[in-house]
Amino acid sequence: MMVLSNEGVKCGVPHCSLCNEPAVLFQRHLDRHLCKAHVIADMELRVTNTIKTRQMIAPGDCIAVALSGGKDSTALLFLLHRLLPQWENVRLVAITIDEGISGYREETMHSAEQLTRRLGIEHHCITFSALFGNSLDTFLEGRESQACSICGILRKKALVVSAQQAGATKLATGHNLDDEAQSVLMNVFRNDLPRLVRNSGVDSSGKFITRIKPLSLIPEKEIAVYLILNDVWNELPECPYTRYAMRREVRSMLSDFEYKHPGTMFNLMKSKEKIECCGKGSVISESLRSCRECGDPCSGDLCQVCLLRQTFD
Ligand SMILES: [Zn+2]
Ligand SMILES: [Zn+2]
Repeated sequence: MMVLSNEGVKCGVPHCSLCNEPAVLFQRHLDRHLCKAHVIADMELRVTNTIKTRQMIAPGDCIAVALSGGKDSTALLFLLHRLLPQWENVRLVAITIDEGISGYREETMHSAEQLTRRLGIEHHCITFSALFGNSLDTFLEGRESQACSICGILRKKALVVSAQQAGATKLATGHNLDDEAQSVLMNVFRNDLPRLVRNSGVDSSGKFITRIKPLSLIPEKEIAVYLILNDVWNELPECPYTRYAMRREVRSMLSDFEYKHPGTMFNLMKSKEKIECCGKGSVISESLRSCRECGDPCSGDLCQVCLLRQTFD
């Protein structure tokens, strides 16, 4: 049996802290080893708890899962499919956005198709070209350094349109604890507190589809282990544009910090929750308006997509 980390063990093969079977994972922040069966049970319980305490799923929901084909979204679809019988009359559909990134999207698209076929889940695909008139590669010519923010704005819009076309009531994304903790730091570094507050998973304004992030408290490493143990692990290429991203620097700094001070990422999420609570109704939270061009909810005169479109012309 593979052992991913044996830190904290003085001698011999580490055993599960709960049942004494050989361990496959060490959770540093809890100083706990887990065996295969307990990794799977623990992950499914924690995701169920996140969904229930934050009331992410209601009876009758149709949940559109944003499936990029990468590991987080693969784990999300796999987990929701497994956990779904707990809710009455809830349906899943998968949606994949083809941004038009040559040499990258083909493989992840194939992986997404394979998974939905295996699980028997309806799969919708939408391309940037069909929606915005061009591929991401074309939009980014000469402004590669802005790749992730431009792609992020367009992807968000594409996901909402696709989820609405599929008749979904919720949009689920695979953001994990590492992603969410990185976002907290990045928003603080940029002094963008409105975005920090806006990032929260559930929207109650009723103006746009509710976004849910059931994996937001699961560390990236544990998602990888869960996929390997369930035999759905797929090694895929990394998006070629990530080398331009600030996130990459924050990610490296934060993993280093988490290693030296286990629990750092959980603490960042708790701080974010407190800021969200304090920010309600204060100068931090912005009131939502409707975009002058397209009517989408936004904080200014134009939404981010319409602002971006002006720069393409
Ligand atoms: Zn065990
Ligand atoms: Zn707009």
